[in-house]
Amino acid sequence: MALRTLSDFDDKKFDGKKVFVRVDFNVSVSKGTVGEDYRIRMTIPTIEYLTNRGAKVILASHLGRPDGRDNDYTLAPVAKRLSEVLDSRSSTKVRFAHDCIGQTVENEISKMNKGDVLLLENLRFYKEEEVNDKGFCEKLAELADIYVNDAFSTSHRKHASTYGMAKLVDTRIAGFNMRKEVEYLSMMRDNPIKPFKVVVGGVKIKDKIGALEHLLPKADKIIIGGAAAYTFLKAKGFKTGKSLIDNEHLSWVSKALSTYGDKIMLPTDHVAAMSPADTSITMVKGDIPDGMAGFDIGNETIEQYSAEVGGTKGAGMTFWNGPMGMFEVRAFANGTINIAKSMALAYWRGVKTLIGGGDTLEAMKKSGVAENEVSHVSTGGGATLRYLAGDEMPGVAVLYEGW
Ligand code: ADP
Ligand code: MG
Repeated sequence: MALRTLSDFDDKKFDGKKVFVRVDFNVSVSKGTVGEDYRIRMTIPTIEYLTNRGAKVILASHLGRPDGRDNDYTLAPVAKRLSEVLDSRSSTKVRFAHDCIGQTVENEISKMNKGDVLLLENLRFYKEEEVNDKGFCEKLAELADIYVNDAFSTSHRKHASTYGMAKLVDTRIAGFNMRKEVEYLSMMRDNPIKPFKVVVGGVKIKDKIGALEHLLPKADKIIIGGAAAYTFLKAKGFKTGKSLIDNEHLSWVSKALSTYGDKIMLPTDHVAAMSPADTSITMVKGDIPDGMAGFDIGNETIEQYSAEVGGTKGAGMTFWNGPMGMFEVRAFANGTINIAKSMALAYWRGVKTLIGGGDTLEAMKKSGVAENEVSHVSTGGGATLRYLAGDEMPGVAVLYEGW
């Protein structure tokens, strides 16, 4: 059953209606200015679709983890940036409400014309949001004729704005981003296009096990780099020196190796150093010397991995989560840069490519790969991994209920 999105409804459905849209505007703000605004820009299709059809669009999001009302976490700078990105395309005005429920908000809404946009203040100024408080859900629901969720990245949470209030509004719809995330991720999880390749790096094996359990049986190749590789190499009996090892999950890794060993690719050489600040780095094959740690995949591995990732032609699907090394340090960024470029190459050759994870997305950009050189950038982070693991997603499930 496909999720219903905005275009599955008649245009008239939105005319003059108060449409509450849960977005993820949890962006970095410093000194009142928004940094990376990808999460803001990506909501434009949903917002403009609604304003063009005469809706009064009420946007709501959380920002950071404030302990009650705290002006350091105000969404006001986001309203400003949203105005700028919408302004250059339309005459839409963005107003900002200094609250997310109650009289202030109702006053602002009563002033709205068709096609206007109102951004509400940080939902987490109320602790009721995160505990899905019934009264708070009711107050949010009162603001809306129609509920739209376009924030896949928060849909693993059972909060008032992602779950509780949705049940109190008759019409619940997935925004365009939500639908795209669910479509891509469910295709990959349940029915990936072959050949299906998975590139895993980064540090936290623990967070990725659930997703890997699902992907390992389906994948044709699992390409492992980053610190994650050292736990695999240790399980195979290699010396790993001071490299980051996840000892708690060593036995899971051993089992994965014995079941799927023939499709798992591991680094054969490494960029090693005494510490991240150490300037005398060395390229080593096989074992990592005592006292040293592996901080990136080596040149031979880069060549093998790039050929594997960039060499798929015409069809297939490739998912990448987790940098190949400590890419924040230039000396350890080569592996990641090459994988990012190989992902772009695969995309241009017709492979469906997906990238997930906060650090991975940053690494992709640092590598000079553009957002439109990937089929789908999943902004979910935790939500993406949980979805891939098959966990229940209250914010997605609630959009299916009642039809
Ligand atoms: P994502 O946010 O994309 O899911 P992770 O959070 O799992 O990715 O991992 C990103 C982090 O992994 C980066 O900060 C990077 O420095 C670190 N990392 C990758 N390889 C290594 C390594 N060999 N040693 C230490 N840290 C590493
Ligand atoms: Mg991370």
